[in-house]
Amino acid sequence: MPFAAVAIKVPLHKTFDYTYQPSMTPCVGGRVWVKFANRRCVAVVTELKTHSDVPENKIKPLESVIDSTPILDSAHLSFLLFASQYYCYPFGETIFTALPGALRDGQNVDKTQLPFLTLTDAGRETTQLRAKKQLALLEQLRSAGDATHSELKTLGFTQAQIKGLQEKKLICEELRPDTSWQNQPLSIGTKPTLNEEQATACSAVNHTDGFRTFLIEGITGSGKTEVYLQCLEKVLKAGKQALVLVPEIGLTPQTVNRFKRRFPGLPIDLWHSNLTDNERLHTWRRAQQATTALVIGTRSSIFLPFKSLAMIIVDEEHDHSFKQQDSLRYHARDLAAYRAHQAQCSLLLGTATPALETLKKALDNKFQLLTLSKRAQTSQDNQFLLVDMKAQQTQGGFASTSLKAIERTLAMGKQAMIFLNRRGFAPTLICHECAWISDCQHCSTSATYHKSMQRLVCHHCGEQQFVPHQCPDCGSTQIMPTGLGTEQLEEFISAQFEDIPICRIDRDSTRRKGSLESALEQIHQGGAQVLIGTQMLAKGHHFPDVALVVILDVDSGLYSSDFRATEHMAQLITQVAGRAGRSGEPGTVILQTHFPEHPLLQDLVNNGYQDFARYALTERQETMLPPYTHLALVRAEATSAHLVMTFLSDLVPAQPFSGIQLLGPIPAPMERLAGKYRYQLHIQATQRNVLHQYLMQLKEYISSHKLATRVRWNIDVDPMDT
Ligand code: ADP
Ligand code: ZN
Ligand code: ZN
Repeated sequence: MPFAAVAIKVPLHKTFDYTYQPSMTPCVGGRVWVKFANRRCVAVVTELKTHSDVPENKIKPLESVIDSTPILDSAHLSFLLFASQYYCYPFGETIFTALPGALRDGQNVDKTQLPFLTLTDAGRETTQLRAKKQLALLEQLRSAGDATHSELKTLGFTQAQIKGLQEKKLICEELRPDTSWQNQPLSIGTKPTLNEEQATACSAVNHTDGFRTFLIEGITGSGKTEVYLQCLEKVLKAGKQALVLVPEIGLTPQTVNRFKRRFPGLPIDLWHSNLTDNERLHTWRRAQQATTALVIGTRSSIFLPFKSLAMIIVDEEHDHSFKQQDSLRYHARDLAAYRAHQAQCSLLLGTATPALETLKKALDNKFQLLTLSKRAQTSQDNQFLLVDMKAQQTQGGFASTSLKAIERTLAMGKQAMIFLNRRGFAPTLICHECAWISDCQHCSTSATYHKSMQRLVCHHCGEQQFVPHQCPDCGSTQIMPTGLGTEQLEEFISAQFEDIPICRIDRDSTRRKGSLESALEQIHQGGAQVLIGTQMLAKGHHFPDVALVVILDVDSGLYSSDFRATEHMAQLITQVAGRAGRSGEPGTVILQTHFPEHPLLQDLVNNGYQDFARYALTERQETMLPPYTHLALVRAEATSAHLVMTFLSDLVPAQPFSGIQLLGPIPAPMERLAGKYRYQLHIQATQRNVLHQYLMQLKEYISSHKLATRVRWNIDVDPMDT
């Protein structure tokens, strides 16, 4: 009797055996229907065998076979098994996380083709249209080539704009057979001559065969993207595929168009979380059949089953969006290393501000370090200014130095960018008489005051409350906002600089569809403006007219319980500062702080991130923190604090385990969230394999623990937020 071991989407760390009729033809890596716990569900076959340990009267037959050829080849299954073991996440759930939605529920693999939108003759000649956005869409197709609906959507165009142009017969849909791009000569758009550092980097990559990881440490604007493009050339010319991973906000029209213009006519696909199931399946298949040459995608594109992958690029490798914060808690950059090794190809990690983990590997010569130290188009550096806030008279949160600098910048017709990582009007309301504070009732944090909505909003659980007119504790009417938020900055700045346009970019101001695009458009029109924003404003965008950056809340990064806080602060300051002075003249970056003499801050400001990061690494080594040790967390939460504590305490063994250090249970950074109590256990080891051996045992133990079904728990390997 033949047996099939299958993986099912259940939270159990094992596969399940089924029998099948010899007339059925299941295959390893193909899907089948099975009955599991009286439910009919899709499963993926992981092994076919002639023996099973399950007693004959207990074993059930497969219901039916969905795929008679594999949808996951054995290399891809090995990759998913690795991901499952590394991140202590059940194999079945890992496979189903990696599959596009349409395949998870048993749908057919081969879907109809998606049409391209292309210019008609009339469209090619049209240069004037009343509808500005429609004209922009025509321009997009003209300059970067034909595009699918999903690509245009990704670039910020709407279905209505597409339809409008179709009705005017300026564009039309076209179904086209998949061309075999591999056999055609690669056309290459205009490109600049590389400077010396870029040329060195490219030749290092292009002269490498087999697996190798490169860290391209290059300041903002030093031409990293140009290096990616010229390295990709070799791969694509050889008819091989490549993957470019970008942070969540990295799929901007500028980025995408740069790739499309460089390789005209090459099939390039985009991948991110806002695609429909059908669009995802389409790209997934195109990767698998090598009908696409290049995918530019956010973190989950690391799971695409490329047929002939020959290069992976991770842009802004330090970015936190590469780490998934729920279910399978993977880091796309780290999985990229496995895949590049498996495919025996190059992995390029690029950033101005390497994560300390990455930098250490480069300094240990595990990665090859390639440095780009000069801006490709301008040579001057930004100027940093630390403003000591101790005993300063402030106005609306600003030191007078900062306000004067803003005034000067505006007078020159330039833009000033003000950065504060807190949206809303004020982080709390406080009672002047009794010091009552507007806490969230469900979380251990205060509720933020949003003046425009007249609500108190918890930024963690989303709960909204009316703003009280009287103090709930003492009845006083003297309740006032305390602390700063972006909404308040906007109010203050608009009173200070009456005729100056202000543009606020945060999650509140950009909630409405299209509002981010129109804000960015306003900024790009140039001229004197003040831009106010949270970290949304910090990343990716190029603002040529910004000459001044003011960062208000530097101190929160200097003293925090999270050991990565200073690293993040330094990355943020450097990235934000990289927005200034891009158009020729150097920009000014003002940091307001109460600790201007802080050694890390001094190092950052005087010697730059490169120096800071190397110094920060010595600190990590002294304190034996990652990347000098390896860390995992067991997190647990429930409505009863006692239950969570009992559960976690019980995981701490009576006898210490050699090579493992345990800390906790301790409260999570946010002890109470949405009414649940949250605690965590830190597990640390100097040896990676010791940590994983330990976690393997722990996982088994937890799975059989009687409280494991009464608390919500997860294991987070290499956690980003501790
Ligand atoms: P990064 O990715 O490091 O921010 P980019 O590759 O975007 O840098 O380069 C910044 C700007 O400099 C871009 O406008 C790019 O076209 C230009 N550039 C890059 N390399 C060169 C070069 N070798 N010669 C001229 N311009 C260049
Ligand atoms: Zn009061
Ligand atoms: Zn809350």
